[in-house]
Amino acid sequence: MAAMTMLAERLRAVLGPSGVIADPAAMAPYLEEQRGLFHGRAALVARPASTAETAAVVALCAEHGVAIVPQGGNTGLVGGGVPFEHGGEIVLSMGRMIRVRAIDPANFTITVEAGCVLANVRAAADEAGCLFPLSLAAEGSCQIGGNLSTNAGGVAVLRWGNARDLVLGLEVVLPDGRVWNGLKGLRKDNTGYDLKHLFVGAEGTLGVITAAVLKLFPRPRDIETALVGVADLDHVLALFARARAASGDALGAFELIPRIGLELAVAHVPGCHDPFAGPHAHYVLIEATAPREALENLLSQAIEDGLAVDAVIADSLERRRALWRLREAVPEAQKREGASIKHDVSVPVSMVPEFLRRATKAIEAALPGVRVVAFGHVGDGNIHFNLTQPVGAEPKAFLARWEEMNRIVHDIVAGMGGSFSAEHGVGRLKKGELVHYGDPVGLDLMRRVKAALDPQGIMNPGKVL
Ligand code: FAD
Ligand code: ZN
Repeated sequence: MAAMTMLAERLRAVLGPSGVIADPAAMAPYLEEQRGLFHGRAALVARPASTAETAAVVALCAEHGVAIVPQGGNTGLVGGGVPFEHGGEIVLSMGRMIRVRAIDPANFTITVEAGCVLANVRAAADEAGCLFPLSLAAEGSCQIGGNLSTNAGGVAVLRWGNARDLVLGLEVVLPDGRVWNGLKGLRKDNTGYDLKHLFVGAEGTLGVITAAVLKLFPRPRDIETALVGVADLDHVLALFARARAASGDALGAFELIPRIGLELAVAHVPGCHDPFAGPHAHYVLIEATAPREALENLLSQAIEDGLAVDAVIADSLERRRALWRLREAVPEAQKREGASIKHDVSVPVSMVPEFLRRATKAIEAALPGVRVVAFGHVGDGNIHFNLTQPVGAEPKAFLARWEEMNRIVHDIVAGMGGSFSAEHGVGRLKKGELVHYGDPVGLDLMRRVKAALDPQGIMNPGKVL
């Protein structure tokens, strides 16, 4: 306790009074993951405003042997960014490191600090006439440092890749307080191990990302969005292949919404309307950076050939947003319908229909009355295989079956060569799954990397591994 008081004093001396939060009420938002699955405690929250201050915080914690939980926008869904219940850790919040350090339109790069909110990075790129394509529903509050640390996916992976594919260089404070300057804006650089990729997706367990050089792209001229009603899951797959080909591989998004997802969205979320006259078994949201004519031809041909039943193409920005709202409202609507058990899985794209059929059948047999709401980034083979509680069920009793449902779904996924965590990471929630399904040699390598970079074990301990 005395040691922690001493550390707090030294941190205040480095960061100033506004850089340290120790008041319990003010700390509360940093201690809870937004889905409510994890409530932690912490000795304090440190809020550095520069790389030098971040390095000083980490060096002091290393000296005092106090563990650090890096935190960005705290929108993570696996409990990786919140401290444990014992209260002996500090939270290192990056929310004051929000400078855009440089934009180089000729090099198509932007250099930003880790605390920059994703939407602001996108806006800064747009102002420079460019596109930063990473996009997810949490973009108004998640931060670039968090996006890189979780290797975030989102709704534009099909065309532009994950966060990992969008980074050229990183600046990282290591667990001993040293700063690794890897802030290069190079597309070609074969000088040994690519260290930046160790920190991408590491969920804060290997160091603190303080800045990044990100790739920019020319702003696409045409963006067309359509919602398509489809009768059969195999047709979804056939439509995907056709849409890739017809758009010259310019598909930005190919997202699946099941009928129940649309129904729940329309029932619970204001501003959601079914654009079709009648119901369809499945809906696909297609976005293409291709001329409208190409999309129109694709869809009319698909309807003629029986691959699609009906389609609407957005004819204004407002209509485009309304179609996206339907997709983004699905998890929100599910929340209003009771408790949910969630799976964020991926399989090879070609196996998505088979996965959905097998997993739905197995889950419905194990838990009669459960409502499978499987939606998401079908073009990436990534399905949010979410389960809504049976009508009238006791939420606690339903949630008590989470592990059992995991095993059913994840066994099917593993049998198809898939992943039990396609985009949200491992954090605390899926550590057991990593041990269960991870390759033993791969796990051994991960533990050795962790031990090499963080021998004291102070950087987000107990997360991932
Ligand atoms: P946090 O939640 O604060 O932290 C996440 C992890 O990264 C933690 O382990 C933390 O310790 C670590 N970390 C954070 N900042 C740093 C840093 N600077 N250095 C080192 N470690 C750090 N995710 C997707 O991939 N795709 C989606 O489509 C998607 N949609 C979402 C929609 C909603 C509505 C919500 C709430 C979440 C969604 N997510 C999605 C999950 C989440 O938004 C992402 O994981 C996001 O990248 C997390 O960023 P963050 O800044 O909030 O990080
Ligand atoms: Zn997602």
